[in-house]
Amino acid sequence: MLMCRIMPLMAADCSQPMLSVVVPAYNEQDNIEPLLAQLVPVLESLTPSFEITFVDDGSRDNTAARVSDAGRRDPRVRLLRFSRNFGHQAALFAGIEHAAGQAVVMMDGDLQHPPEIVRRLFDEWRGGGEVVQAVRRAPADDSLIKRTTSGAFYHVLSRLSRTKVTPGASDFRLMNRDAVCAFLQCRERCRFNRGLVQWIGFDYREVVYDAAPRHAGRSKYSLRSMLRLAGDAIFSFSAWPLRLAGLAGVVVSLAAAVYLIYVIIVAAFTKFAVPGWSSILATLLIIGGLQLIVLWILGEYVGRLYEEAKQRPIYILRGRKTADAAPCNDRRESATV
Ligand code: UDP
Ligand code: MG
Repeated sequence: MLMCRIMPLMAADCSQPMLSVVVPAYNEQDNIEPLLAQLVPVLESLTPSFEITFVDDGSRDNTAARVSDAGRRDPRVRLLRFSRNFGHQAALFAGIEHAAGQAVVMMDGDLQHPPEIVRRLFDEWRGGGEVVQAVRRAPADDSLIKRTTSGAFYHVLSRLSRTKVTPGASDFRLMNRDAVCAFLQCRERCRFNRGLVQWIGFDYREVVYDAAPRHAGRSKYSLRSMLRLAGDAIFSFSAWPLRLAGLAGVVVSLAAAVYLIYVIIVAAFTKFAVPGWSSILATLLIIGGLQLIVLWILGEYVGRLYEEAKQRPIYILRGRKTADAAPCNDRRESATV
């Protein structure tokens, strides 16, 4: 069990809060208080019953202590602690799994996702939206590298996969209970939550906002970790990379066939044919092409094995009637400060 269980979370009546907010936090000690100072008044104006869960993703600073302090002052603030750094996507999953609200909002802990926007997510939900995605209009303080790589990534993903992710849609969204249940049934390890949220379906809406600059600290996403996330996204939502060998095989085989015709003509009708050369080259090309085609076939099997290994649900129903959706109905005992 990743989380430390200290005491049951909610008040004795176990009533379900209307709204849960999940905040992954990795070395965000200086952002906890400012975030709460802005977020709590917004939530209080929306509903009398809410919880804010910080998922401390193995921070090496005082993030957990700051959340604990806040939780002592306000029992609606909760803490889940990972035993080490498992990453942003895992922290989101854990927070959502332990959230009890009828709707769950996830947002970053560095104030780049303005708490005021939660009001608009909430209103869209009340208006019938089941997944309400916040989409940022313009990056506030992203580097040129980040903007270019992220643009290229969304382009490639949309070409390779049928799951479309809106550029600018980060992990800032609200999901209703049905969507949360469906999302939690996707238990793959290499997660790209943005894609999964599209994959599960439901009434999807978007709210456009202007991103704020990071309040304190620095981004935890290095170029390397962004590339890893991009790899998870592309490889878990597209089988196309596996088919590349097949494509190369077909091209090489066709080229070999054309070339073979050419060398036969040279051998039959001219005096320039070098003995042995044409047959060796043609054999090499044909075997090379065959090998690539066999790789493709293997790739198709590996791709299907991968699909099965992910164990995503075969279908998702509204109203949580899906066969193994039971855990979503349970009020999970969870950790707090
Ligand atoms: N985060 C996390 N674990 C990680 C990296 C990041 O929980 O390994 C959290 C981080 O504390 C923040 C959110 O995920 O609340 C987004 O991270 P960050 O702001 O560094 O990403 P960026 O906004 O630069 O893409
Ligand atoms: Mg950030």
